[in-house]
Amino acid sequence: MSFFKTLKRGFKGAAKAVSADSYVINGMAVNCVHCGGKHFDEGQAQMNTAGLTFLNLDWANKSATVMVCKTCTHVMWFARSPEKVLD
Ligand SMILES: [Zn+2]
Repeated sequence: MSFFKTLKRGFKGAAKAVSADSYVINGMAVNCVHCGGKHFDEGQAQMNTAGLTFLNLDWANKSATVMVCKTCTHVMWFARSPEKVLD
């Protein structure tokens, strides 16, 4: 149920966020693994496809956060939401 709400919020946040597009998870800044970029678009994606359900990822509440690097467009997946850094 919250999937569409978070998806909408994610896109709205990405659309207006020019400077507040850096994230922290587990106390560490999220950096792009490909180019080292620190700026991302955030979105939500469902994880309950046949393949992922097979991997017993139901604990992840069937949704994941995707972080799309604004520099190189590399997509990283997180099972919980990173915190947005407001600066
Ligand atoms: Zn990148």
